[in-house]
Amino acid sequence: AAKESSKSKHLVYDDSMNIKMNRKLELINNLHKALEKKEFELYYQPQIDSETNEIVGLEALLRWQNPTLGRVSPAEFIPVAEETGLIIPIGDWVLKTACAQNATWQKEGYKPIPVSVNISTIQFNEPLFVDKVVTILKETTLNPKWLHLEITESVAINDATLTINVLNRLQKIGVKIALDDFGTGFSSLGYLSKFKINVLKIDSSFVQDIGEDESTITKTIIVLGKNLNMEVVAEGVETNEQLDYLKNAGCDIIQGYLFSSPLPAGQIEKMFKLAA
Ligand code: C2E
Ligand code: MG
Ligand code: MG
Ligand code: MG
Repeated sequence: AAKESSKSKHLVYDDSMNIKMNRKLELINNLHKALEKKEFELYYQPQIDSETNEIVGLEALLRWQNPTLGRVSPAEFIPVAEETGLIIPIGDWVLKTACAQNATWQKEGYKPIPVSVNISTIQFNEPLFVDKVVTILKETTLNPKWLHLEITESVAINDATLTINVLNRLQKIGVKIALDDFGTGFSSLGYLSKFKINVLKIDSSFVQDIGEDESTITKTIIVLGKNLNMEVVAEGVETNEQLDYLKNAGCDIIQGYLFSSPLPAGQIEKMFKLAA
């Protein structure tokens, strides 16, 4: 009997492994063809000045719609794209598309605002990443000051000196750097003063804690960012209570469902027209 039960445990384990493996293989197979089949679209989420309620920026967020898989969340497919290296061509497409869209909006006469693009650590660590950014800005005619690159604390895992070098070169071009999901990684506070970071994005997990004891973390991050001359953005703002708290604590910019979820370019344009 003991033998049997251990055998069945084994089978259950294998089954769930198989399901996970099949799903992953399906993702990989479809991800390979997704660019060519034009299955990607960029959505844009407004970032709002907490004092004036104006839209002061947009974060580009990738959306994938596949005929067999349906909509797949970036939380699921981005890690797979990173593991397979597909994040490089996909990330190139994202950067080009976001820059081109922002340049187009400016040519159409809308008030210039920066577009923030998420950059995976694998992209950031490409030897020619900075050159790539320069080329894309030229090709799309976007002024570098209207591009923000969102990186996470993990960029510095391997080589802090290299990271500082790349950040310095990006700043020289005039591109701004935002540190995404701040507080969830494992960077030391020492990094923050060494790295040239323009924008600090408070992770939504801290924003969710507002109203509870732990929300002092949010306040502390805001003070930290301000003292280091950074702009502070709160992510995942969903309630008026959170908004009031953040405003009182001196947070410059808010992003979240309370104001708007990420939207296709056409709907952002409608929003611009209403605001004009
Ligand atoms: P992120 O960069 O931290 O983006 C914020 C995520 O929070 C987005 O999820 C956004 O839709 C979601 N969000 C915004 N407001 C709210 C809110 O009020 N409540 C809640 N619960 N969520 C909110 P999304 O679009 O599913 O993206 C997830 C993650 O996938 C992103 O996190 C980013 O790390 C990654 N990602 C998305 N697009 C790209 C991309 O183009 N390139 C790369 N490398 N990563 C991307
Ligand atoms: Mg982001
Ligand atoms: Mg984030
Ligand atoms: Mg995140």
